[in-house]
Amino acid sequence: METTSACTGLTCTECDASHDPDPAAGRCPECGGILDPTYDYASLSGTPSALGFADGPDSMYRYDALLPFPASASVTMAEGATPLVDCPSLADEVGVGRLLIKDEGRNPTGTFKDRGATVAVTAAAMAGASDVALPSAGNAGQAAAAYAGRAGLDAHVFLPSRAGFDQKAMVNVHGADLTVVEGRLPEAADACADAVAEASWTAIGSFETPYRHEGKKTMFYEVARSLDWTAPDAVVYPTGGGVGLVGVHKAARELERLGVTDDLPRLYAAQAAGCAPIARAVEEDREQTTPWETPDTICGGIEVPDPAAGSLVLDAVRASGGGAVATDDDAILESACTAAASAGVEMGAPCAAALSGAEALAADDELGTDDTVVVLNTGSANKDTDVLRSHLMKKGI
Ligand SMILES: *Cc1c(COP(=O)(O)O)cnc(C)c1O
Ligand SMILES: [Zn+2]
Repeated sequence: METTSACTGLTCTECDASHDPDPAAGRCPECGGILDPTYDYASLSGTPSALGFADGPDSMYRYDALLPFPASASVTMAEGATPLVDCPSLADEVGVGRLLIKDEGRNPTGTFKDRGATVAVTAAAMAGASDVALPSAGNAGQAAAAYAGRAGLDAHVFLPSRAGFDQKAMVNVHGADLTVVEGRLPEAADACADAVAEASWTAIGSFETPYRHEGKKTMFYEVARSLDWTAPDAVVYPTGGGVGLVGVHKAARELERLGVTDDLPRLYAAQAAGCAPIARAVEEDREQTTPWETPDTICGGIEVPDPAAGSLVLDAVRASGGGAVATDDDAILESACTAAASAGVEMGAPCAAALSGAEALAADDELGTDDTVVVLNTGSANKDTDVLRSHLMKKGI
């Protein structure tokens, strides 16, 4: 087994138990809680160049000093290293000082899910697994199929019937085993859990593995690097299960702790009004999310009615001084069209919840003209062209 030198193992986010480094780790063996990789930060130097961040691979593995597995041992296709695109006209339209879009659509399978998949599949391969399995709204399944194929592992992907045609097709094209489950994401998750229990496959669903949020955290290292090792004032994230938000919160605290950055950004969870358990819990000042009864949004990628890590997401937005926001599908699709028309940036439908959310936050004076705001465009518009075009149709265009 090959872990990086500062990686000390895994800590349970629920019972605080510490565990040795283990690529086979799933949930906490003591309590079933979510595990989080830990590092000996004191053993690391706090300058970007001493950390190896100044050069190294042109991918998220440039930051492998703060990842569990080194670049050299990873199943990688140069994911990450995506640009932070300055969008002055959108900043004016939204009403913030500066607006930058982190364009995750430029990843190998078109979304930031690649960052989680590379680390989760690396761990599974290192642990000697032959099969990985996950439920997904679509993009995570496509990414896992790609990386599993590359590693020579069999992937079993459970998608709800509503998942997009492109994602279903590409799961097949990557050579994975696709099961389409009648219903929505929770039904696909149940079907996957049953199959995993029966076949003893390695589960790599959201927060079933400690390694997906760990991979996604690299988005923030890149944001800070693009801003000359400063933190933006705010990051707005299109939130389903919140895997990326939990990762970004961790990365922001790591860089501050190491002295690489001076500040922490405010983190905002942006959701679709038709499925907004995080935004509702923030508004009602609850510690825990409660399941959303009748999820109904065109943004399938963020339709997660009962997020497994709801309390971690709530911690992240509260501890950072941020918050949550929910906007309706029409406003979200309109934002995607605006980003494409006035900034040239192609945002996927669920991703545009972040831009639409930023607009709502600015209208509420949560974001203002003094703020540098990063909007995470988690995926490419290529997977949602039909939905976006239909939105124009409704307007008679
Ligand atoms: C999965 C996904 C999200 C939501 O990610 P979480 O980390 O589960 O909150 C957002 N946008 C796109 C394009 C996705 O595929
Ligand atoms: Zn535990």
